[in-house]
Amino acid sequence: MVYSLQTGIVYGPVRSRRFGRSLGINLSPCARKLCSFDCVYCHYGATDRLTTDLSMLADELPSAELVLDVVEVALRSAEQLEVVTFSGNGEPTLHPEFPAIARGVAELVERWQPEARTVLLSNSSGLSRREVHDALAAIDLPVLKLDAGTRETFQAVNRPARGVRFEEIVDELSTLSRITLQTLLIDGEHGNTSPHELSAYFELVRWIAPVGVQLYSTDRPVAKTATRRVAVERLLEIAAQGQQRAGVPFRVYGV
Ligand code: SF4
Repeated sequence: MVYSLQTGIVYGPVRSRRFGRSLGINLSPCARKLCSFDCVYCHYGATDRLTTDLSMLADELPSAELVLDVVEVALRSAEQLEVVTFSGNGEPTLHPEFPAIARGVAELVERWQPEARTVLLSNSSGLSRREVHDALAAIDLPVLKLDAGTRETFQAVNRPARGVRFEEIVDELSTLSRITLQTLLIDGEHGNTSPHELSAYFELVRWIAPVGVQLYSTDRPVAKTATRRVAVERLLEIAAQGQQRAGVPFRVYGV
């Protein structure tokens, strides 16, 4: 069993375990899941359309104007928020107007919820588009996915669309400052916690040099049942190793 898709452009406010009281923004269609990854652990289930290019699917996407109108109404009426989070039914940066939306939402948050910060939860696959890369400047907390230390594990865990290259993602991540990495660890089939894998992953984190790493396992229904949760005690051990090997703070969620 997996979670239901979000049914609107905004959802919540919800209590996020990582960010607190959050208003979510969904830039994907409500009827199906479009993503550039098909992660084995995705709690929204299998990706219906695995792609990096939504330009042919524009009819299914909300326009930037509509998104900003809906977000403004929600921001005006919500009690105090801690964050406004781009997440939703798929990868937010795939939306062709993501840069304009990111900047517009930042302005609206500044006007209506000045205490709140904007968060982007992204799978990192859009960073090779210059306009997406540049739009991160409008986001207070860019939180970018890195679940693997090797190309083989990236392919097995994240199952990306054709044309998405692990090495390119890692290179792009290394050019960004003030980013946080998010890493989901799983055991079982396609697990990413072997000593060899973790060693390679710690090396990449050291090279990317994020401000921190958010480490967690799945606590929800997942797409593939052969995927197993990593116990919190083991996550804490891995975080301690990572902090020592990569030289950046690791924080475990799910404790
Ligand atoms: S990137 Fe996110 S939305 Fe896309 S398949 Fe992976 S977990 Fe699901």
